[in-house]
Amino acid sequence: MNKLFIKDLDIRKIQGKRVMVRTDYNVPLDEDGNITDDTRIRATLPTIDYLLDRKAKVIIASHLGRPDGKVNPKYSLKTVAIRLQSYLHERAKVFMADDCIGAKVKKQIDEIPLGNVFVLENLRFYPGEEKNDTAFAKELASLCDVFIQDAFGNCHRKHASMIGIDEFVPSAAGFLLKKEIDYFEKAVNNPMRPVVALLGGAKVSDKIKIIENLSKKMDKILIGGAMAFTFLRAQGFNIGKSLVEDSMIDVVKNLMNMSKKNGTKLYLPVDFVVAEKFDSRAETKIVPYQEIPENWIALDIGPATTKLFFEALQDAKTIVWNGPMGAFEFDAFSRGTYAMVDAITNSHASTIVGGGDTDMAFHKSGKTHEVSFISTGGGAFLKLLEGGELPGIASLSDKKS
Ligand code: AMP
Repeated sequence: MNKLFIKDLDIRKIQGKRVMVRTDYNVPLDEDGNITDDTRIRATLPTIDYLLDRKAKVIIASHLGRPDGKVNPKYSLKTVAIRLQSYLHERAKVFMADDCIGAKVKKQIDEIPLGNVFVLENLRFYPGEEKNDTAFAKELASLCDVFIQDAFGNCHRKHASMIGIDEFVPSAAGFLLKKEIDYFEKAVNNPMRPVVALLGGAKVSDKIKIIENLSKKMDKILIGGAMAFTFLRAQGFNIGKSLVEDSMIDVVKNLMNMSKKNGTKLYLPVDFVVAEKFDSRAETKIVPYQEIPENWIALDIGPATTKLFFEALQDAKTIVWNGPMGAFEFDAFSRGTYAMVDAITNSHASTIVGGGDTDMAFHKSGKTHEVSFISTGGGAFLKLLEGGELPGIASLSDKKS
């Protein structure tokens, strides 16, 4: 990464200074507002620890949910501040603000002792955050001497705290941001070969740029999920009532030709779990891909495909996975996805996993510790897979050569 990293900053820029860390504490909450998964909070501890060790005042800035530019107590970061305190123990006190900009907040920051943490209230309580309003970005910048970007999961967004603020204050990447980028580079742009991508999910149109980009870089691409049906249809097969995007058939045909030219092997499912209707209680059966019945819908990959994909992953030294193999939210159609979790955790390959559903499958299986790296970013990870640039990173200060 050609951007300044927190460790590149001179100690004099940190010690005794007000250092703002943009984190992605957009954690999932249950109906009562309890945090159901705090991975994103724990992932930022290395950056916070580093700054506390150097006696900085750490100012945390984040959004939570979609309050649409209005104050909404449901999306207050108070619960997050309490959880952060539980991880910092006695080491530092976590103070919670009731706003994220303004004279009162500035005064409170001035008053807290060095080596402590100050959590700003939800940035999205102001419309200026999502609009990347210059005045809002300037206000935020006025609260700190240095800005550290560690909100990888939000780096695809052009918001005030993601790109606007860097214009007004020196900035650098935090530990989480660097870890995400380093893993990604190692897995996709400079991988140990063979490198295999496992792609699933609902729509080819959502993933087309990813498949195009990866077909230039991967040795093999395994395609599961509903995306597979557009590929099968493009080859003239009957796919019953399964999800298909007829408008993408020509695009898919080009893609298959392009992969062939690039020497990337494409693997498609060879059997499916089909159901009479999209209902977990519907009658199901397993059929080869040539025999999907007229009025049935294919909702998961079948056992022969699981075996095929398992074998295709055997020699992999690197695996990249995004997207479920079937409608895995329903037990009846989840076997293929969980079989891939097993295939990956049993493999010796270095693996990077990303995207909300894939992440969820690992969490549900309780095997998150058995995979090399699970990205904390959904949209940001997908943007990188497309070969795109992340604005939240592009706007950081450059490393001086
Ligand atoms: P995406 O957000 O594009 O990764 O798609 C994830 C969604 O794809 C999940 O909600 C799955 O239920 C859905 N999905 C995967 N395979 C199928 C399938 N065969 N039929 C219908 N939906 C599917």
